Amino acid sequence: MKVYNTLSRKKEEFKPLEEGKVKMYVCGPTVYNFIHIGNARPMIVFDTVRRYMEYKGYEVNFVSNFTDVDDKIIKKAMEEGVSSQEISSRYIEECKKDMAGLNVKPATRHPLATQEIDGMLEMISTLIEKGFAYVVKDGTVYFRTRKFEEYGKLSHKNLDDLQAGHRDIKVTGEDKEDALDFVLWKPRKEGEPYWESPWCQGRPGWHIECSVMAKKYLGEEIDIHAGGEDLIFPHHENEIAQSEACNGKIFSKYWLHNGFLNIDNKKMSKSLGNFFTVREISEKYDLQVLRFFMLSAHYRSPLNFSAELMEAAQNGLERIVNAAKNLRHLQKNAKRALMTEEEAGIFKSSDEFTEKFEAAMEDDFNTADAIASVFELVKYSNTKVNEESSGELAERLNKRLEQLCDILGIILEREEELLDEEIERLIAERQAARKDRNYSRADEIREILLNKGIVLEDTREGVKWKRA
Ligand code: AMP
Ligand code: ZN
Repeated sequence: MKVYNTLSRKKEEFKPLEEGKVKMYVCGPTVYNFIHIGNARPMIVFDTVRRYMEYKGYEVNFVSNFTDVDDKIIKKAMEEGVSSQEISSRYIEECKKDMAGLNVKPATRHPLATQEIDGMLEMISTLIEKGFAYVVKDGTVYFRTRKFEEYGKLSHKNLDDLQAGHRDIKVTGEDKEDALDFVLWKPRKEGEPYWESPWCQGRPGWHIECSVMAKKYLGEEIDIHAGGEDLIFPHHENEIAQSEACNGKIFSKYWLHNGFLNIDNKKMSKSLGNFFTVREISEKYDLQVLRFFMLSAHYRSPLNFSAELMEAAQNGLERIVNAAKNLRHLQKNAKRALMTEEEAGIFKSSDEFTEKFEAAMEDDFNTADAIASVFELVKYSNTKVNEESSGELAERLNKRLEQLCDILGIILEREEELLDEEIERLIAERQAARKDRNYSRADEIREILLNKGIVLEDTREGVKWKRA
């Protein structure tokens, strides 16, 4: 499997640190509003990377944070006259609903910055001890950028060029040693959330949270670190500096970055008014269409969002969904059950589409070409299966189609929504299974419910459930 590594600017053969396992960290959104369709792009593409890795048999430990302390969250909280925590927990819930609609699998863990302050204090202390960070009069802690000799290795920037770029910028902290130094911890301002620290009551800078959460949940060395290309500099560059200075190890082997989403060929921005939230799109389209649209381009290319392209994605997706529907119908109504020898040959020939799909994905996750092979399979099935075919042929081709679509996170057969009584019945069955120590059945039921968008929570008062 080849992946394009921003670090080397080359496609490299993917070799995990530990055989059969992938440790992957994706920077998540800052939660002060509904997520926009730009934010959805890394969610969708890196979920697809994860799904492909899992298909290949890797066990993927996938960590993605929510940044729940930040200037924008504080500003929004002040506008509404509520706490920052109220804002962040509201939009984390909303974000999870959008992710479910986009069929983005929940991460193995979704840590929150505000729950990881202890780890940040520890890492900052180590950086100070090692001479990579310093405290100034007002209690601000800065990272001593020039001390980390490899600074710039990800963004391929040269420190002196950066310095020149900074010449006209007013250095905010007066005691800052160098314009390139960045904040690890800053003093509180009136009305802002804050934590105690050895340096001052305050809050962390943005970059430190990801270094700390990746270390805590994945370890000092990880396989893949990913996010949008705007994060290469300074965010990911700074994460590398913090983590590698602290741990003395290479932080991440591969760095993957998605290209930007534009609207009508213009940069998406609130001020231009060309800005859509995922929620707005969901009022007009099934969110699967948005997912399919995003995967129709290579993840590293810029992608233009427009009504016409969404219509095209909708039509394309419909063709695939209809082919699956048709195969199910033919299977159900087949006059013959088992494949003939000739049909076995027909099925065998369709290996080609799976092979093409895999070859595309092996080449730095070329989902555009992978989708093209799905269309070829659809065309092939439409021509090779009819009322005279065996049920087995229809079933097998449909399974193949489902398997490929599942890697893309596209659901071909939507199950009917569960009624409340059915949910309650399944929960009761799970409780009984647990009582009988039949934990595999209990887990199975949790999984069944999850697949239908029902999330269970075991509390002291019993099991609670909600629709995701
Ligand atoms: P933020 O909430 O701004 O930190 O963004 C969360 C994630 O969305 C990051 O990985 C960003 O790089 C990514 N992102 C933000 N805007 C866009 C966009 N227009 N296109 C693609 N990715 C984006
Ligand atoms: Zn990050």
